[in-house]
Amino acid sequence: MPMQRTLIENKDLTDLTWFHPGGSAKVFFQPAHMADLGEYLRDLPEKTQVEVLGSGSNTCFSRECFDGVLVYLGARFGGFEALSERTVRVGAGALTGDVVREAMLHGLDLTFLGAVPGTIGGAIASNASFSGRRLCERILRATVVSRDGRIQTLKPDVFERSDRRAAALRNAVIVQAVLDLPQQVPERLNAALADVKRQHEEMFPAAPLYTGHVFSKKNENADEAGRKSPKEQAAQILSRLGEFRLPGTGLYLDRSFPNIIFSNESSDGSRLAEFAQFITNRCRQEFAVDLECNLNIVGDLR
Ligand SMILES: Cc1cc2nc3c(=O)[nH]c(=O)nc-3n(C[C@H](O)[C@H](O)[C@H](O)COP(=O)(O)OP(=O)(O)OC[C@H]3O[C@@H](n4cnc5c(N)ncnc54)[C@H](O)[C@@H]3O)c2cc1C
Repeated sequence: MPMQRTLIENKDLTDLTWFHPGGSAKVFFQPAHMADLGEYLRDLPEKTQVEVLGSGSNTCFSRECFDGVLVYLGARFGGFEALSERTVRVGAGALTGDVVREAMLHGLDLTFLGAVPGTIGGAIASNASFSGRRLCERILRATVVSRDGRIQTLKPDVFERSDRRAAALRNAVIVQAVLDLPQQVPERLNAALADVKRQHEEMFPAAPLYTGHVFSKKNENADEAGRKSPKEQAAQILSRLGEFRLPGTGLYLDRSFPNIIFSNESSDGSRLAEFAQFITNRCRQEFAVDLECNLNIVGDLR
């Protein structure tokens, strides 16, 4: 039977994001395939707001109903295909962990993403990075469906700068990408993945979290020596703030994992935004450093 689109009204989103802040969407749309996505977006009234959700590891919804269409690709937009010795086509709905493992089976190295949760679409949109390496550096082209329903191919220069990437993706859904990956022998790939997982565990706690939004130092580049990513640079700065709590909320920073927002209760988008602002202001005042929090909040804040 051909794949059908899924359309649900007033969809509860609690279980679709990692940190369960609640929230709902007026319309939840999972397209059957790329052409279906294009037709649906083209036929929507121009004023209808559209947002995209990957696996929700970096997204919060406000507790108000999001008054628009939430596009969710899911596994039907997954997939991995080796195109040549170094290039692979990956679906935006594929989970990064699965893609990393598939790449390894083809002798290709994407291991730096091996511990980053989420989908390829989310990883491209946020330029997922670890250990000074970033996904957008590996993109040869990406296919997107724009808000007016057109299918477009984005070239690598779009991904070189965060402002260009954000502008190109503001009204577009990434459907797939072609990546250029370095070749590596299996033993080295296995060792690299184990190393990434160990380093990641040092930065991100394994304990269940209510939030996990991470601060980065503004300016996406690694430091001069190329060793520290913007997130690691932020962690160094935030460790100087030490233990930090926002009175009246369950939100806090933990000395062991300095650049992650923790909460001992589920917390809505407005509280998270307030806390993130509080921290960035303190860092600007005390250390003259600009941090940004990659908190992605959908819907109106109260
Ligand atoms: C425990 C933990 C550890 C983490 N470690 C890291 C880390 O080491 N490095 C790192 O970079 N991040 C890390 N993150 C953050 C997060 O995992 C990444 O940002 C991830 O790439 C988000 O993927 P997602 O599918 O969950 O995206 P979502 O949270 O669903 O979405 C994130 C953004 O991407 C957009 N988006 C998603 N799919 C598409 C699409 N198909 N087309 C267009 N836009 C899309 C959304 O609209 C949203 O703006 C971590 C998060 C957690 C919870």
